[in-house]
Amino acid sequence: VPESHAMNLADTIRAIPDYPKPGITFRDITTLLGDARAFRRAVDELVQPFAGLKIAKIAGIEARGFILGGAVAHQLSAGFIPVRKKGKLPHETVSITYSLEYGTDEIEVHKDAVKRGERVLLVDDLIATGGTAEGAVNLLSGLGAEVVAACFIVDLPDLGGADKIRRLGVPVRTLVSFA
Ligand code: AMP
Repeated sequence: VPESHAMNLADTIRAIPDYPKPGITFRDITTLLGDARAFRRAVDELVQPFAGLKIAKIAGIEARGFILGGAVAHQLSAGFIPVRKKGKLPHETVSITYSLEYGTDEIEVHKDAVKRGERVLLVDDLIATGGTAEGAVNLLSGLGAEVVAACFIVDLPDLGGADKIRRLGVPVRTLVSFA
């Protein structure tokens, strides 16, 4: 059996029941990150469709999107843009308010993080309702970026986030799905 078939990425992700609140199963990717082969596999599989597509920059969503996004950026020889929670970036920013399951939150990027027409790939660990990724897509598009695709290790398809992003015209790649 080739090595690529010997490991199931899903098995390297830890499930924490009732975290951060009752009824939520938290998909903890720190166990995947701590497994050298799984981490490499996840990054290799995420970038696979995008090699040769002239991606200028990876936009990673705070905080786990930074870890994956940095590795993806290196692999694609792209730059990296941090998409952060409000109030963390030191230079001039643009921000967007997006909806969460309960309430709203705000993310921002530096105004000069992308040039008009630059091809950007969005990266995060997991897509649930898609609210966060939708906010990030709108933020980057508003700066003139072309968001080529969004990729995530984990999809929670029952929450419809991946479909929501596809409806914006942005292709979505995910590696593992938990129903
Ligand atoms: P959403 O905006 O609903 O798609 O939520 C996505 C963001 O929340 C990502 O940055 C995830 O890291 C985090 N998140 C949401 N649900 C979970 C979950 N069940 N397990 C781990 N992280 C989650």
